[in-house]
Amino acid sequence: MTSLDDLPLRPDLRGQTPYGAPQKIVPVALNVNENTHPIPEAVAHDIVAALAQAILTVNRYPDREFTELREGLARYLGHGLTADNIWAANGSNEVLQQVLQAFGGPGRTVLGFTPTYSMYPILAAGTGTEWIPGQRDADYELSPQTAAEWVQRTNPDLVFLCAPNNPTGTPLPLDTIEAVYNASTGIVVVDEAYAEFAPVGAPSALSLLPGRPRLLVSRTMSKAFAFAGARVGYLAADPAVTDALRLVRLPYHLSALTQAAANAALAHSAEMLAMVDEIRGQRDRLVAELTMLGYTPYRSWSNFVLFGGVTDPHSTFNALLEEGILIRDVGIPNHLRVTAGTEAETTAFLEAIARLDTPEAQ
Ligand SMILES: *Cc1c(COP(=O)(O)O)cnc(C)c1O
Repeated sequence: MTSLDDLPLRPDLRGQTPYGAPQKIVPVALNVNENTHPIPEAVAHDIVAALAQAILTVNRYPDREFTELREGLARYLGHGLTADNIWAANGSNEVLQQVLQAFGGPGRTVLGFTPTYSMYPILAAGTGTEWIPGQRDADYELSPQTAAEWVQRTNPDLVFLCAPNNPTGTPLPLDTIEAVYNASTGIVVVDEAYAEFAPVGAPSALSLLPGRPRLLVSRTMSKAFAFAGARVGYLAADPAVTDALRLVRLPYHLSALTQAAANAALAHSAEMLAMVDEIRGQRDRLVAELTMLGYTPYRSWSNFVLFGGVTDPHSTFNALLEEGILIRDVGIPNHLRVTAGTEAETTAFLEAIARLDTPEAQ
C-alpha cells in the first residue's frame, strides 16, 4: 500500500498531522463549541425556500462578489461598516487561510499566543508561513505589555489574536489589541469567532477599525449563529484588505447555495441568536458548578469552559464518553474543555463528572 512517505510531498508538510477533533455520534456532543440548539423551524423553512429559488439558476456561476451577503453582514456588524469592508468565505478558517495566502507565505511569519486555536499553526503550515508560538501571562490572560514585547522581539508579518481565546475562553482587552497594532508593522487579525457570547455591551475590536488599515476582525456564523454546517465565515477590514484577498480567492468560492442560505439566515439574525443568553447562562453555571466540584475553571467570554484540576484527562474523557458525553482533551496537562450545551446537556455533563473521582488537590 502507498504511504505518505512514498509520495513527493512538500518537505515542510512531512510529519505534520491534520486537524482531527474526534467526530462521534453521541447523545451529548460538547466538544467543538457548536451552538447545540437547533435553528428555529420557521427560519429553517425560509432558508429552504431561498435554497429552492437558488437551485433554479444553479446552471450559472454564483455572484463572485457575493454582494448581497456582504451587505447583509455589514448591516449585522453595524459600526458604520459597508459591503466594501466585508469579506467572506467557507468558514472563517478559509478566511484566515486567504489572509495567510495574501500576507504570509514562504519567508514570512505569523505570531500567536499559545495555547490558542489549533488551526493557526495548521493554516500557517499549509501556506508555508512560519508559526511563532508566543506565550501568555498567568491564567492564560494576555496583557498589552506581554503581547507588545513578543511583537517587538519577533517582528512578525502577521499576528493572530483570538478574542476570546480558544481553548481557554479568556477575553482579550482592547488595550492589548491596540498595543499589538502599535508595536507591529504587519497585519493584525483579531479572531472574534465567539464575540456574540461576550457580556452585553462589551466592546468589539470592530470599534478599533477606523484609522487602522492593517487591522482585520474575523467572525463566523458557525458558533453563536448556529450555522456551523453551512460553512460561512467573514471579516471586516479596510477595503484595501478585501482587494488583497481577491488576489488569492478562488473564483466563485462561495456557492450560490451557501450565499442563499446565509442571506436567508441573516434576515432572521435575532431568531438565530435567540439562544445566546441561555447559552451564556449555562456557561456561567459550568464555571460555578465545576468550581464547587473542586476543579479550576478559567473565566470565559465564550460558549465553552476550560478547567484544570483533572488528574488524568484521558481517563476522565473516556469515562464521560462511556456515558455518551463527548468533550475535548486539548492537550493541556490536567485540563479539559467543555462546550456549554442546552440545559439538559449541561446537566448530563455536570452530573456525570460529579460521579467521577474528585479532582487532584490544587
Ligand atoms: C470555531 C472557530 C472558528 C470558526 O471556524 P469556521 O471555519 O468559521 O467554522 C474560528 N476561530 C476560532 C478560534 C474558532 O474556535
